[in-house]
Amino acid sequence: MTSNKKKFIDKLRNVKNLEIIESKSDVKRLSKDFYNYSPILTEKLEGCVADLVVRPSDHNAVKKVAEICWEFSIALTLRGSGTGNYGQAVPLFKGVVMQMSNFNKLEEFDPETGFVKVQSGCVMGELNKELEKYGRELRLLPSTWKTATIGGFVAGGSGGIGSIRWGFLRDPGNLIGLEAVTMNEKPALLTFDAEESEPLNHAYGTNGIITSLLLATDIKRKWYSIVIHCIEFEKTVEILKTLTSAAVDLKLGAILEEEIVEQMPTWFKSKFRGHKILIQSTLGGIHTIELICKKFKVESSLLGEEEKLVNGISEVVWNHTTLHMRSKDKNWTYLQMLLPVNNELEFINFFKKKWEKKILWHIEAVSQQGSPRLAALPVLKWNGEEELNEIIEDCKKLGAFIFNPHVLTVEGGGLGVVDADQVKAKLKFDPKGLLNPGKLEGWSIKEQFNI
Ligand SMILES: Cc1cc2nc3c(=O)[nH]c(=O)nc-3n(C[C@H](O)[C@H](O)[C@H](O)COP(=O)(O)OP(=O)(O)OC[C@H]3O[C@@H](n4cnc5c(N)ncnc54)[C@H](O)[C@@H]3O)c2cc1C
Repeated sequence: MTSNKKKFIDKLRNVKNLEIIESKSDVKRLSKDFYNYSPILTEKLEGCVADLVVRPSDHNAVKKVAEICWEFSIALTLRGSGTGNYGQAVPLFKGVVMQMSNFNKLEEFDPETGFVKVQSGCVMGELNKELEKYGRELRLLPSTWKTATIGGFVAGGSGGIGSIRWGFLRDPGNLIGLEAVTMNEKPALLTFDAEESEPLNHAYGTNGIITSLLLATDIKRKWYSIVIHCIEFEKTVEILKTLTSAAVDLKLGAILEEEIVEQMPTWFKSKFRGHKILIQSTLGGIHTIELICKKFKVESSLLGEEEKLVNGISEVVWNHTTLHMRSKDKNWTYLQMLLPVNNELEFINFFKKKWEKKILWHIEAVSQQGSPRLAALPVLKWNGEEELNEIIEDCKKLGAFIFNPHVLTVEGGGLGVVDADQVKAKLKFDPKGLLNPGKLEGWSIKEQFNI
């Protein structure tokens, strides 16, 4: 150990309410996330391991870690539960990983607005249990809600169950504000309103250490799960679009192509054959859904209240679909996109003709800027980067908007362009560029990290 590194660790050891993890196996485990869904990222990130991991239990410890990292110019990467898919929480330049799991309290609930103030390391499943006491629930959940943190979701996720109604996390009205610690000589805890929070929302922790979030919540409803059975794939798209424009409350609307259904867990595939539409609706919506099914001459099965089911359909949607496919064969990977408006079937049919069963279709209904849209998370058999790029180019040419899960940066996985406000926030709150370096394309790290 160099004397500088020893000094650095000694300083950290003096910080109160800070757990330090140095065991090689733990540090290695806590330096990884679910980037192995992408063969490209797997190759790039295999050797990326932090020097150590810390877990602060109060704001003072967070500030002290930031101050010490600043003094020694050491990289600091935030971590919630490490369920991200793009290596978001993987330290590219060693240094410290700071896991926020001890920041897990619901701080305040306002019954007038339904806003909840919650610490960033709170697991979403636990937060929902707390919210239930107030008759509320989170608007949006990733399919990893049982283990993932709310801070990791806002900093690294995008949407999921609930997006059919509430759109994406970055849509105005979902994130009302946040508190974050800055990374500079004298780190400070700052409060951000909704507008000021925007650059920190989905920035992979590159421009502030989020300690708590103020979020809008929804009224807690009983959601019922329904599976609609279709023989023709084309009908699934028409039915889902009809359902999303009907006057019913929906929490989820997804399509799984039959070859995907066959790879789902036994409880699901043993009951169902063929293409499926998966719906979560309130009890009041079921009659209308059944009526729409009748019009399209398809059958449906009401499974019951999602929360009371031993196995719910929330377990086979969003990226959990990919998880189950990969549990059968690790060569499955995936893409994420918004399908072209009103052209979804022509789009999918092009791929079915050109790529046949190399691409299998998994569709999720979402709301985009208030309008119903179809997103897709198709699964595809890995056959090298060249073929993946050809598929991506085909998608783009035909009008899809790709959120590429095979790239490391905020911009690559998101809007594809540098967000000047995110870069401005980095300059202000992390002027040395120590927070999760290498993940923001708009911030050059060439000189700093000698690359
Ligand atoms: C099977 C599977 C299904 C998934 N389904 C979905 C889905 O439906 N929707 C979706 O959006 N995502 C999905 N994901 C991705 C991921 O699970 C979610 O985005 C999840 O919310 C991330 O939370 P986390 O606590 O694991 O965050 P982590 O992976 O630990 O971190 C995510 C990012 O946030 C940063 N970060 C964490 N905490 C903080 C903090 N306090 N301050 C600043 N930055 C911070 C990290 O540095 C990292 O860049 C899925 C992943 C898998 C493996």
